[in-house]
This record gives sequence, C-alpha cells and structure tokens, in this order.
Amino acid sequence: MTITTVSNEQLAKEYVDGVFEQLKQQNSHQAEFLQAAEEIFISLVPVFVQHPEYIKANILSRIIEPDRIISFRVAWQDDNNQVQVNRGYRVQYSNVMGPYKGGLRFHPSVNESIIKFLGFEQIFKNALTGQPIGGGKGGSNFDPKGKSNSEIMRFCQAFMTELYRHIGPDVDVPAGDIGVGAREVGYLWGQYKRLTHASESGVLTGKTPGYGGSLARKEATGYGTVYFVNEMLKDANDSFEGKTVVVSGSGNVSTYAIEKAQAYGAKVVACSDSSGYVYDPDGLDLEAIKEIKEVKGDRISTYVNYRPDATYTEGCTGIWTIPCDIALPCATQNEINGESARTLISNGVKAIGEGANMPSDLEAINEFLDAGVLFGPAKAANAGGVAVSALEMAQDSSRVFWSFEKVDAKLHQIMKDIYADSKAAAEKYGYPGNLVVGANIAGFVKVADGMLAEGVY
Ligand code: NDP
Repeated sequence: MTITTVSNEQLAKEYVDGVFEQLKQQNSHQAEFLQAAEEIFISLVPVFVQHPEYIKANILSRIIEPDRIISFRVAWQDDNNQVQVNRGYRVQYSNVMGPYKGGLRFHPSVNESIIKFLGFEQIFKNALTGQPIGGGKGGSNFDPKGKSNSEIMRFCQAFMTELYRHIGPDVDVPAGDIGVGAREVGYLWGQYKRLTHASESGVLTGKTPGYGGSLARKEATGYGTVYFVNEMLKDANDSFEGKTVVVSGSGNVSTYAIEKAQAYGAKVVACSDSSGYVYDPDGLDLEAIKEIKEVKGDRISTYVNYRPDATYTEGCTGIWTIPCDIALPCATQNEINGESARTLISNGVKAIGEGANMPSDLEAINEFLDAGVLFGPAKAANAGGVAVSALEMAQDSSRVFWSFEKVDAKLHQIMKDIYADSKAAAEKYGYPGNLVVGANIAGFVKVADGMLAEGVY
C-alpha cells in the first residue's frame, strides 16, 4: 500500500484552481469579472495554506457569488419627448462587514461583468478601510455625455424609482463613480425622499457638503491615492518633492490626485480624457483644468488654449510614453497593458499609484512587480473615497458635521493604516514588498473571519 501525503500548499492551490475553473465555466463571457477574480485568487493561495479552516468552510466559492444581483429597466423621456430605455444594476455582493457600500457608474460600457468586478473588489477595499461597510456596486449603461441637465435629472429619478426599494442607510448605501458626481447624487437622493417619505441622509454618500455631504469627500480618492504613494515612497527613503508625475483622466479622482501631488512638491506634466492627453512640460495649471472640467464640462483638448506651450495628442495610451518618476492611472480599467508598463519602466518610473479601479492589467502588474517598481494597487491606493463615504455615513447618523481638516486628517490616518496593514500581511504570508498580495490578503482575512463567525448560510 502506498501512502501519499498532500501538502497544505498543494491542497490550497488545488482548491483555488478548482473554484476558479468553476467560475470560468459559469461566467465565460464576463472578462473583467474573471480578470479581477483571478488577480485576487492567485494572491490568496498562501492564506489557504495557513488557514485550512477557510477551505473547509468553502469561503472562496461563497464569497465570489454575490448575495444578489438586481437588474432593472430604466425608462425615461429625453428633451425631444422620445422614450429612452437603459438597463440599471445593483450588485449586493457582501454585507458581512456592514451595509453594502459602493458607487454607481453611468457609462455606456457598463454591463454585469463590469459591475461584478467592481463589486467584488469593493468587498476587500472596504474591509481594508477598517470602517463598518460591506461591498456592492451599481450603475447603468446610460451615457451622460451630451445630455442636458433636465435629461440627467429625469434619468436619475427614473433610476431611483426602482433602486429605492433595495437600499437604505443600514442596508445598502450607493455613492458616485464614473459619470456620477454630487449633482447626480442630489437628484437620486431627492427622488429617494419623495418615494420613501423619509429624509434618511445616510442612504447615499457623495452628497453636497452643507446638504448632508461630508467635506473632503470630493477630494478623498485623489488625495488618498497620493497619501498612499507617499507612504510607499517614505519607506524607500523618497518623496514626491521634485518628482515628475503623469496622471491619466481629468475627472474627480485625477483632479484631486494632481492637487495633492502638486502640494507635495511634484511637477505633474500630463493628464487626459477618453479622447486624448495633454502634456505641459512646465507643470499642469490645475485651475485651468478645474475650469475646463468642473465649470465648463469641456474636453481636455481645450487646455492648450490656456497654456500655449502645452501639446494635445489624440488617443489615450500615448500618455504612458511620457517619461515620469511616478504614474497615477486615475481614469478607468485596463488603461495600462504590458507594453505601456514596459515603456514606463524603461523610462525610469519609480512608483505607480492606482487611483482608478483595475487600471493595470495582470501583465502590467507583473511587469511592475518584477522590475521592483513600487506598486500601490487600486484596492488599497484608492480606498480613500469609500473611507470618507463611511465617515459621511457616521456624520449623517450623528447629525454632526466635521471640518475639512478633521475629515482630511482621518483620511490621512486611514491611508497610512491601509499601507501598514497591506505591508504587514505581505510580509506575514511570505511576499515582502508585494502590496498586491498584501492588500488582497489583509482585506480578505477580515471578511473570511466574519464569514466563519456567522456560520454557513
Ligand atoms: P469621472 O467620471 O469623474 O472621471 C473619469 C475620467 O477618466 C474622465 O476624465 C474620463 O474622460 C476619463 N477617461 C475615461 N476613459 C478613459 C480612457 N480610456 N483613457 C483616458 N481617460 C479616460 O470618474 P472618477 O474620477 O470618479 O473615477 C475614475 C476611476 O476611479 C474609475 O475607475 C472609478 O471606478 C475609480 N474610483 C473612483 C472613486 C471616486 O470616489 N470617484 C473611488 C474609487 C475609485 P471623459 O470625460 O472623456 O469620459
């Protein structure tokens, strides 16, 4: 008789591979979702080696399946009295750590795969913040570009007319994301109030300050990304001072990442929108960008009218050919592929901070890690937005609102803690310096322990 012993490592690997195989079969058309799951699954193998109880409780198969997916029709009338129909989503992924929490994205690319990838990532990001919030995400394939203010309002009202029955301050708390800012959140909240006859301000975050919103929420994701990168740099005896920085996008996250990087003494030389990018070798004029994007709602190409020495180039990926010390992708998923990563590395990039969700594909991440570039993964680096959303919920519940400085100081501390926890988890599980593994594990372990405590359901 031969006795074969299977090592914990082999068991862990077989378990993770088995769950991923099944996931691929069940979601074969959901590329973004599978990509996000694969990135997390790979890094969890060392956890299952040390925690066979998670395998016994089949935590991975349970956590990858959302609590529920809500998909609904949004019918609304445009300014020409034509009836338009869009699809709305809310994925309530996990409420182990607190009410489902995650933004709403309005963009034509939105589909179930994208909302699931965002919702799954959100579980671990939210756990990392140390705040009592679960994971969820939602949105619609509605395209806000070119729509009038009245059309946006009517769409938001129609969207909330279905969504309201699924959310609540202790149930599910949506917020903004791409295409959803304070204006949209205001319209959504107004409709929620009319439908529920209740002024539950904690049901949505990202509201206007002075109207139930938190100061520093608008700045939180961008500032938080820079705070996180600053921690990575400090550990490497470095800083933002005098560094050349490239930031993609020119929306909410990008604008405030630029602002904080500049405040830390960096020269930010480029930013973009979905049509192209601007390069300003003397350093971007942030006031001009705010006027173009926040006041006029215009294209970034018009930046050259403000700064004659700046250049505009059509197309987005070229932005990564600009030599820089620090790159902050703050636009959208998969904006840095392996080739762009190699270009950034050969141009001497020292640090990457992911302000957007999943902006680097798996090949790019591996290139950065192999080259020893400091890499701040989205889950950790952009968690500042949802962290301040949780602080907004706390303020709404207590009816007491805090100063900008107080919220910003709390945000700063949360980002430092996320960095420390991710770094410690990476070391504990045998991957020192790898914050991708560290952030995934630090977030996962908290949720897995909560699931064990709650039993099987
Ligand atoms: P916004 O809608 O405010 O801005 C998005 C920006 O990215 C716009 O300038 C947009 O240009 C640009 N963009 C879109 N696609 C591309 C592309 N392919 N190449 C270059 N630029 C592009 O969104 P946010 O700033 O809120 O969100 C940006 C990212 O950050 C998303 O991944 C989001 O999920 C993530 N995030 C946001 C948080 C938040 O608090 N807002 C929190 C955590 C993560 P255009 O105007 O042409 O569309």
